[in-house]
Amino acid sequence: MKQYMNFIGGEFVATGKTFENRAPVDNRVLGLVHEAGADEVDAAVRAARNALHGEWGRMTVTRRVELLHAVADEINRRFDDFLQAEMADTGKPHALASHVDIPRGAANFKVFADIVKNVPTESFEMATPDGGQALNYAIRSPVGVIGVVCPWNLPLLLMTWKVGPALACGNTVVVKPSEETPATATLLGEVMNAVGIPPGVYNVVHGFGPDSAGEFLTRHPGVNGITFTGETRTGEAIMAAAAKGVRPVSFELGGKNAGIVFADADFDKAVAGITRSAFENCGQVCLGTERVYVERPIFDRFVAALKEKAEALKPGPSEEAGVSIGPLISQEHRQKVLSYYEKAVREGATVVTGGGVPTMKGALAEGHWVQPTIWTGLPETAAVIREEIFGPCCHIAPFDTEEEAIALANATDYGLATTVWTQNLGRAHRVAKQVEVGICWINSWFLRDLRTAFGGAKASGIGREGGVHSLEFYTELRNVCIKL
Ligand code: NAD
Repeated sequence: MKQYMNFIGGEFVATGKTFENRAPVDNRVLGLVHEAGADEVDAAVRAARNALHGEWGRMTVTRRVELLHAVADEINRRFDDFLQAEMADTGKPHALASHVDIPRGAANFKVFADIVKNVPTESFEMATPDGGQALNYAIRSPVGVIGVVCPWNLPLLLMTWKVGPALACGNTVVVKPSEETPATATLLGEVMNAVGIPPGVYNVVHGFGPDSAGEFLTRHPGVNGITFTGETRTGEAIMAAAAKGVRPVSFELGGKNAGIVFADADFDKAVAGITRSAFENCGQVCLGTERVYVERPIFDRFVAALKEKAEALKPGPSEEAGVSIGPLISQEHRQKVLSYYEKAVREGATVVTGGGVPTMKGALAEGHWVQPTIWTGLPETAAVIREEIFGPCCHIAPFDTEEEAIALANATDYGLATTVWTQNLGRAHRVAKQVEVGICWINSWFLRDLRTAFGGAKASGIGREGGVHSLEFYTELRNVCIKL
């Protein structure tokens, strides 16, 4: 049986305690994950610290950039290994994993390496009180050992989105992948060794959150900064852990994102866009749309069109031709999503489509499938409109004015993303300026330029990463002042 081991100081490390990794498509056991205890986490943090003081710490930026390019090239050379591992762990369709997860996972190393190579620092000349002069200039230093705690929805992509810039800036990392998706983080260890990244620069510890590797890592005093992607509630626990030693955090958290469709939108493009934003990756995208607001004149037509699209989505295993929707990540998550499906009905929703579990044949019947689901008719106070579900579902409500649409979109504790559909340029700019989110897409969704700032407003996050913004978290500026 496959073993997913920890990767500490350049070596794969087994532990006495294992847990099963199961496939979302049919719940079969894929392998055993070796859970890191406090001792293994401590060893990983020490290995990361030693690497900072070794060859990695002394390496020129040029050499570091070369090595990170080699990491990306090696991921691409082993593209199929990464693809198979990611599809097995998540059950996502081949088209999605091969176009998004793996290529973007590799790109994260190149993009940030190039940014670090090309970004200058500031300098200021100043007059001194004695009539002389001084020169100030800034140096960017790595923060040190970065703890990287990851979710399961885009495992390689979201992990390398943190590891890429952290390493490019000269830090070392200890990664805690989600317990649901241990494979690609482990595989990346092989890549690091193959291209000659010094031992201890990239470490992986497996396990869960509380009283396991996640908590041991975030509480570890040897960790200098923590970058985390996951639920807002988990972020609160990690922030409390990081308070000890006043360590900086960068958080990408949950969302309850709105989609706004104006009557002047290109109708077909808006329907296609919301189909993606509501159902892609079986709704397990932090940027996904679970609240859709549609201008009243096109409301009925829009609901009917989205229903048709949702019903055309074909569930099935990753490699099957024509499959466009995979399962949810786990039985536990399916229970959560189905509990919202039931809650919606109890609260009086009209179920436009879905609301249950599709019939799957053979072994697939054991998988974590749910139907894409659309509701209408609920008040804004309903649980399925207020709380993040993280499933393939959305509620659609009508609105009458631009002001009302903005107010509805903003009436949430979260503030991650919005997708707005309109052909009126002035309106697009007005709405974008008023929605309280980290990213506002106009006539698009999940279109990411890695040079731009990414993060959440309100309860959806702390800080921004992407492009030069990542440098703010992964480096510290030191000002050097020279009296001339
Ligand atoms: P999660 O918060 O349950 O788990 C994320 C990671 O944190 C896992 O590795 C888990 O083991 C670890 N963890 C849990 N409790 C911990 C603790 N007390 N201390 C340390 N580590 C702990 O999230 P998830 O279910 O894996 O992912 C789904 C969530 O992630 C959704 O809320 C989604 O919106 C969010 N998300 C946000 C973004 C973003 O960019 N804003 C991106 C992807 C996912």
